[in-house]
Amino acid sequence: DYPRVPLTHFLEQSAAMYPDSNAIYFMGKSITYRELLQLSYQFANALIKRGVKKGDRVAIMLPNTPQAVISYYGALFAGAIVVMTNPLYTERELIHQMNDSGAETIITLDLLYKRVTQVRASTSLQRIIITSIGDFLPLLKKWLYPFVQKKQGQNPQVTYSANIEPFLSVLKESATKPVEVPVDPTQDIALLQYTGGTTGVAKGVMLTHANLIANAVQCQAVLYKLKKGQERILCVLPLFHVYGMTTVMNKGICIAAEIILVPKFDVKQIFEMIDKRKPTLFPGAPTMYIGLINHPDLKKHDLSSIDACVSGSAPLPIEVKLKFEELTGGKLVEGYGMTEASPVTHSNPIWEKGITGSIGMPWPDTDCRIVDTAMGEEMPQGEVGELAVKGPQVMLGYWNRPEDTAAVLKDGWFLTGDMGYMDENGYFYVVDRKKDMIIAGGFNIYPREVEEVLFEHPAIQEAAVIGVPDPYRGETVKAFVVFKDGQLASEEDLEAHCRQRLAAYKIPRQYEIRTDLPKTMVGKVLRRQLQEEDKKKREAQEEIK
Ligand code: ATP
Ligand code: MG
Repeated sequence: DYPRVPLTHFLEQSAAMYPDSNAIYFMGKSITYRELLQLSYQFANALIKRGVKKGDRVAIMLPNTPQAVISYYGALFAGAIVVMTNPLYTERELIHQMNDSGAETIITLDLLYKRVTQVRASTSLQRIIITSIGDFLPLLKKWLYPFVQKKQGQNPQVTYSANIEPFLSVLKESATKPVEVPVDPTQDIALLQYTGGTTGVAKGVMLTHANLIANAVQCQAVLYKLKKGQERILCVLPLFHVYGMTTVMNKGICIAAEIILVPKFDVKQIFEMIDKRKPTLFPGAPTMYIGLINHPDLKKHDLSSIDACVSGSAPLPIEVKLKFEELTGGKLVEGYGMTEASPVTHSNPIWEKGITGSIGMPWPDTDCRIVDTAMGEEMPQGEVGELAVKGPQVMLGYWNRPEDTAAVLKDGWFLTGDMGYMDENGYFYVVDRKKDMIIAGGFNIYPREVEEVLFEHPAIQEAAVIGVPDPYRGETVKAFVVFKDGQLASEEDLEAHCRQRLAAYKIPRQYEIRTDLPKTMVGKVLRRQLQEEDKKKREAQEEIK
């Protein structure tokens, strides 16, 4: 049984119980739970006064800053549907998301003002609320500006007009609780959250209040040792991605944790925050832990305050988990999920021993089956099929995409698009995405298996594997590798390494050495982009011939 309340209930409850505890710690300053609630009420009142009504979409396009949290809860108190937007979206991506969601209001940074006003005429946007990094903390400019400037150029001069307003003036509204907007938790959408866009165009996922509440309560059951009002979460995961957004803004606020916001992944910043704030939880993505274990300063910092590092959003290479635990003496726990499931469905046990290489077991009230995609039948235990999940956290559907919804949601079962199997103890394993499977000479190859082997090579920092056309086998394996600083290996060496560990048909036939790999904002390697780049290269070569 889950509480039938709106998501904002978490913040109100934490503010009532722990008014003076830190809700947010950001660059040397903190905001208490009492203050956060008050600021959120003010923001809600401002939105309501400006005409935002129940069900309206409000886009939040901010890096990790206190303003992102205030806007999130403010919009929810106003009864709006929150649309988290990646601040590094290109104009094309931004137009797509605004038009797809029909957002009329956007809250963004002054640095992004130019991009937003440029797309505005081609979108549904009516109202822009601009915040400056310096609105709360002037000292931040130095540190945050490069984050957006890279893509933006100079700091623009913002001229405020009727429907462009500064954030701080919006916060001059009354701090009394706005008139309560009636919410039906199982039917009303709290979030229209876009998928990662790893395999194609990002789809809007309709998550209800009940979906998100359920996932937070499930999380509490799994992390049963956490103490309300006493945890500190290191948040470097972007709040606009479903993983950071829910683990931090829903679950973190629910347990009245201090949220240590870091706007950009930078190993030195992470170390500094660990030294200063002694976080107890550090949710992250595999690439972040890869960054940490390869940093020469790792040994100089004490990570013992952290009870658990929870890795999600992409497969955690076995080598990385082992190395991390060996070097830090800490615990790195793997979980699994997707936007469509608010987002967690599985994890290893946090305090007890889990299984390396496994995504663990389904969360409370979550069922998981391995099915034959074509037939819809359940596969025998141990055999690979598509993971299907059912539970209170599974989405209502995709926004305005009834066909896409029908294709993945069947009798409450959500077809994840991930292939995997279950062992005899009920632990689940993901082999790879269905879409990324390579078929070479009639054999199925999962890129991840080959990547795991490459990761074991001492000179390799990162690896990605794709299928490329082959006149004889249909497809063949190509590997992209990034070497560790100052290290190298020859193709013969890599070949010998793989030959010892993989069946012949799985061994990469082609290698390409890179200095880095294209990734999404949560650090997922974009195999799709590698594929496109490779295709272009081949076509160019064809032309030369
Ligand atoms: P899109 O659906 O737009 O292509 P996406 O699937 O990357 O993007 P998300 O919902 O952010 O968007 O990611 C969910 C996916 O991430 C899962 O379906 C799975 O493929 C992958 N994933 C998450 N955690 C793990 C894990 N522990 N191991 C393997 N894969 C994982
Ligand atoms: Mg997906």
